[in-house]
This record gives sequence, C-alpha cells and structure tokens, in this order.
Amino acid sequence: MSTYTVINPATAAPVKEIAMADLAMTDATIAKAQKAFESWRLVSPGDRARLLRNFARVVDEHIEELAQLEVQNSGHTIGNARWEAGNVRDVLNYYSAAPERLFGRQIPVPNGIDITFKEPLGVIGVIVPWNFPMPIAGWGFAPAIAAGNTVVLKPAELTPMTAIRLGELATEAGIPDGVFNVIPGKGSIVGERFVTHPTVRKVVFTGSTTVGKGIMRGCADQVKRLTLELGGKSANIIFADADIEKAAAGAPGSVFDNAGQDCCARSRILVQRSVLDSFMEKFEVAVKKFRVESPDLDTSEMGPLISAGQFDRVMEYLPDSANVAFTGTKPSGPGYWMAPTVLLATSTADRAYREEIFGPVVSVLPFEDEADAIRLANDSEYGLSGSIWSRDIGRAVRVSRGVEAGNISVNSHSSVRYWTPFGGYKQSGLGRELGPDALDAFTETKNVFFDTNS
Ligand code: NAP
Ligand code: MG
Repeated sequence: MSTYTVINPATAAPVKEIAMADLAMTDATIAKAQKAFESWRLVSPGDRARLLRNFARVVDEHIEELAQLEVQNSGHTIGNARWEAGNVRDVLNYYSAAPERLFGRQIPVPNGIDITFKEPLGVIGVIVPWNFPMPIAGWGFAPAIAAGNTVVLKPAELTPMTAIRLGELATEAGIPDGVFNVIPGKGSIVGERFVTHPTVRKVVFTGSTTVGKGIMRGCADQVKRLTLELGGKSANIIFADADIEKAAAGAPGSVFDNAGQDCCARSRILVQRSVLDSFMEKFEVAVKKFRVESPDLDTSEMGPLISAGQFDRVMEYLPDSANVAFTGTKPSGPGYWMAPTVLLATSTADRAYREEIFGPVVSVLPFEDEADAIRLANDSEYGLSGSIWSRDIGRAVRVSRGVEAGNISVNSHSSVRYWTPFGGYKQSGLGRELGPDALDAFTETKNVFFDTNS
C-alpha cells in the first residue's frame, strides 16, 4: 500500500504517514457503503436525527483537537481552524432537523391521491479540496446522511488528517458502520472511481474548475448526479459614497484570509476612480498591519501557503515586471510563507487580474460609474461571490442584482452561512450547497398516484 507524508506547511517538517487507498480498497468501501445504505435508509427519522445530534455533540467535544490537527496539517490560523471545526458541528446540528422534515407534497388530482416522496439516492461520493478540509467535507456529508444516503468521502491528498478524525468521531457517536466512510487517496484513483463506479449515485465535488469539468464529463456516462463548487475571481466593488475607512479595513481579510486559498477570495478590487487614492492609502495601512505569523498564535491572521507546489504556482503570477503597489509582511525561516501582495492592474487582460491565483495576491482596478462597475465585475468566466460597498441603498440593490455571482455581501465580506445557500454562477459551479434546500440535492423526488376508484 502506498503512503503519503503529511507536511506542516508552516515549518516544512513531516507530520505523519497516511495510508492511501488503492482501487480495490476503494471498491470494497463503496460496497460497504452500499450495504449500509440498505439499513440506514430504513432507520426511523427520529433515530437518524438523534444520531446526527450525537455526532454534532462529539465533534463539539473535540473542537480543540480538530483545530490543532488542521493547524498542523494545513497551516490554518488557530482562530480559523476552531471556526472550521465548529462549522462541522453546526452543519450537523442544522441537518439533524432534516430527517423529521423531509416533506413530500400531496397534490390534488382527480380519481385518486397524489403524493411525492423525497427518496435518498444511495451512496454519495464527496471529493474535498485542501483549502477548507473540514467545512467542505461537512457541507457534503451532513445533508447527505441526513437524507438517508451513505457517504464515501475522499479528502485531498495534502490534507487528510481532520477528515480521518471526523470518520472516527462518527463511529464514536454511534453512526452505524459503513454510513460515513473516509477514504484517503489520490484523486486519479479514489476520486476517479467515485465517477466511474455505478454504485456511487452522486458526486459532490469541490475543487478546481479544470478537474471539475473532467468530473462532469465522466458523470455524463451514467447521467450521474453532480454538485460542483469550483473556482472564483470575485470582485470587491467600492463606490465613492461608501464608508471608505471600513471598506479598506475589511479588504485584507476578504482576500488574504487562509492565505488567499479561498474560492470566495475577493481577489479583484474595483474602486471608483474618485476615491482610488484615498482608498489605496488606507488599504496600505491595513495590509501592513495584517498579521502574517505562525498559525498557532491566537493573533495570527494569515498562515503559510499549503505546499511548495502551491507557492511556486502563486509566484508565477509575480514576475519581476509585476506592477506591485505594496506588500505586507511575512516571517522568515522555513515553511511556504508569502507576503500579502497588492497589484495595480494595467488592463483587464492581465493574467493576475483574470485568473484564479489561490494565493495572497489581489489586483486593484479603478472604475468610472455604476454600469462600468457591473460590466467589469461580470467580465469573468467565474461567478462565485462578491462584495459591494455603498451607502446608497438603491445602488446596493441594483448592483447586487446586476453582478452574476451566487453569493454577494453588501457592506461586509461574509459569504458562507450554513443556513443560507452557497454556490456559483458560470464556471464557478453547478448547484447549491447548504441552506434549507440542500436536501433536494441529496434526494430524488418520487411521485406516486393512488387510484381511489378501485
Ligand atoms: P483539485 O486539484 O481540483 O482537487 C480537488 C479534489 O479533487 C482533491 O481531493 C483531488 O485529489 C481530487 N481530484 C483531483 N483529480 C481528480 C480526478 N481526476 N478525479 C477525481 N478527483 C480528483 O483542486 P485543489 O488543488 O485541491 O483546490 C484548489 C481549487 O479548488 C481552486 O481552484 C479553488 O477555487 C477550488 N475550490 C473551490 C471551492 C468552492 O466552493 N467553489 C472551494 C474550495 C476550492 P488530490 O488531492 O489527490 O489531488
Ligand atoms: Mg490538484
């Protein structure tokens, strides 16, 4: 069996050897999940709800342990990692209410009764990226098992540690054997098998747009259900009438959080020209103050990049000729550290302005008026998220309706609440996760007509 050595990105030191599943192990786990589905779907709604609440409680009792694992494995700041573990608990609690509320409808028809049922799909394959290992896992497995499905989950090769622990905690919470299975392994082996194996009835994929397109093509062969959460190049639009102080103070966190390895990163800042200088002055102060330091410190606001490979990929966007306005700071020593970097876009054709960098790099571009701001924001193949800063409520409404993106925040940078829907327009994805409707993505609607004349 092959193994993978987890590296602590803050120190470049090895942490742990992880056994990687091969094809035979993957198939055996899928078969086990299929077997478990036969009984899990029949567990009474109240019992399924109780087990999900137990799982949430056990996760809650291990928040600190999970958070520390994520700091070691992923270099997330301890503050973020605690939030991420808490998010798994919250998502489990939220969907623990679902089994008892998976309502169908009774639809008026002549000569009988018509009822719809929300039936589980079967085995769901969840493929998780390395940037938010815990939350993204939870957004897939919690609603999936709540709806009566069983799950095979593949963490990213780089970041398997918290997923493996969550699998153990599920068992500790009494989730029956085979209902939630974590399979560490390569995307090209384990992930690909979720696509090709006919027993896996749906794939939930979060990751790069390129890999997502391949998965979509693969799923077509079996008309396999699919949810995609892909890349982004979201705009942070700042109008002259905004609270510029507040917009500038919030901008670093909106793009440099998680070292910019966030699909919702506001990596394009569009500023109305009349306030460009005033914004840049205040933004520079905020970027210089942004604390890039050891992620285990409570004060840390940004840790390292995930890997040497990611560091090299991000650096490609920063050649000597890059139009750097200013940078923040970074610690010296080992690890994959990069200072937050602010670029002035020279044109909308700049690679750094157009492409998802997935690192702590942001491009700033001025705009003239409202129409120009919307046009620039939408000039992207992506459409995941975005922010609008303005004190004019009419404008905020118009622009938030005009921007082609799934998650917009006005006068703030929040994107993800577990009780509201999350997902992308255009090449940022397909379908929505979280919120009240997520169960629809994990069930088939069955319509049954009962003839009352016979
Ligand atoms: P990635 O290379 O697409 O990998 C994502 C996951 O897919 C990993 O578990 C990976 O396994 C697996 N995988 C790779 N090739 C596969 C294949 N042929 N078949 C099945 N699975 C395969 O992306 P990443 O490098 O982890 O993450 C960065 C990207 O993800 C960025 O573009 C980012 O925007 C996007 N992302 C989007 C969202 C969102 O919600 N929209 C959230 C997070 C990340 P290995 O680990 O073995 O490669
Ligand atoms: Mg990859």
